[in-house]
Amino acid sequence: MAENNEVELNCYEDLPDSPVTMGTSLVFKTGDWRTMRPLIDREKCKKCGICWKFCPDMAIREHDDYPEIDYDYCKGCGICANECPFDAIEMVEEESL
Ligand code: SF4
Ligand code: SF4
Repeated sequence: MAENNEVELNCYEDLPDSPVTMGTSLVFKTGDWRTMRPLIDREKCKKCGICWKFCPDMAIREHDDYPEIDYDYCKGCGICANECPFDAIEMVEEESL
């Protein structure tokens, strides 16, 4: 390991024996990948929490009793929109915002 705590990998032999990560999942802001953005319509939302339950990135939290999406971590997979039984989540292209 270098003095600044960066790992130097110059050749195959430098690789560790087991997989490693350079931080927790909090470090990896998967929102960078997103091409589609979920938008919640509070008029349609029934606060059932199903979107929260299905989000694979735990990017949905509760705020004022409503689900709120953390766009730092939402990668735009659309599962929440597919699973919402009240059609309260719309997926829109990032460029159109
Ligand atoms: S699944 Fe739909 S209705 Fe239920 S909390 Fe999420 S957005 Fe609201
Ligand atoms: S689009 Fe995917 S990652 Fe983003 S909030 Fe919905 S389920 Fe979670």
